[in-house]
Amino acid sequence: MKLPLISVPIVEIPLEKTVRLFLKREDLVHPEISGNKYWKLFNNVNQYLEKLAPEKKIITFGGAYSNHIFTISAVGKIYKISTLGIIRGEELREKWKDNFTLKKASDNGMKFCFVSRADYRDKENLTKKLQEEFPDALIIPEGGSNELAVEGIQHMLTNDTKEFDYLCSAVGTGGTLAGISRSAAEKQKVLGFKVVEDSSLENQIFKWSGKKNFELISAGFGSYGKITDENIRFINDFNDKFGILLDPIYTGKMMQKLFEMIDDNYFESGSKILAFHTGGLQGIEGANAMLRNKKREEIRF
Ligand SMILES: *Cc1c(COP(=O)(O)O)cnc(C)c1O
Repeated sequence: MKLPLISVPIVEIPLEKTVRLFLKREDLVHPEISGNKYWKLFNNVNQYLEKLAPEKKIITFGGAYSNHIFTISAVGKIYKISTLGIIRGEELREKWKDNFTLKKASDNGMKFCFVSRADYRDKENLTKKLQEEFPDALIIPEGGSNELAVEGIQHMLTNDTKEFDYLCSAVGTGGTLAGISRSAAEKQKVLGFKVVEDSSLENQIFKWSGKKNFELISAGFGSYGKITDENIRFINDFNDKFGILLDPIYTGKMMQKLFEMIDDNYFESGSKILAFHTGGLQGIEGANAMLRNKKREEIRF
């Protein structure tokens, strides 16, 4: 059994504006391997499942709140493949059980190796060593971004997405936006909402995509993972009004910025805008635990 091709609905977010906004619900693609991570893993995992290896193993990299780490652990559970997560931050070795994402990944059977931030930065060297030690293992880079991942994102674009003038997605490592950019129709403009300031992103995305049909827009509030009270309120309002839950690291930030741009008349009148809901909802419990600790407003779900 391989990861199947699944299609998800496109729903309109009714705004009473001169433009129309739609959301493609990739968050519904799978209960655990959700959102863009499903498509980034699609070819990586399906090709690996075909491989005859005496002992299958998937190794990957991520931080303590990583959606990618969690989805890899879920793949391991579903396909009975052992998984190893190389986690950034040695300090977590003692207290990873307090972290929702790592706890859930461990419940799915993932083993961890905690490394210092310096070692983590040198992932190329780590990857080389791991591949020597585990020659049959599938090693997937941080965030799941590689050529096969970019290729898999093409499944988020279908006949139904062709009618839109703008295609929007949150950007972390850029693999998802590169896939959207590569598969977009000629007249479509691709907007990437960066949740991390990284000056190499634009070149990296261009290298993967081969097209310059995209624009990057800052949607973060400073550092990666930063959560503001204003954005929490936005996420809760959005859910109250439209019945759709957004995550506080990616999709909540993209959507708040998109609303601002619509109010500022960034889009010409009559435009049809499609945003991808890339999932990430597994991270909400962890974010809420942090917010609760600081006696701040939490995300209702
Ligand atoms: C990982 C992730 C992204 C970013 O994807 P990249 O391919 O790394 O840019 C966007 N949204 C969600 C919910 C994610 O989990």
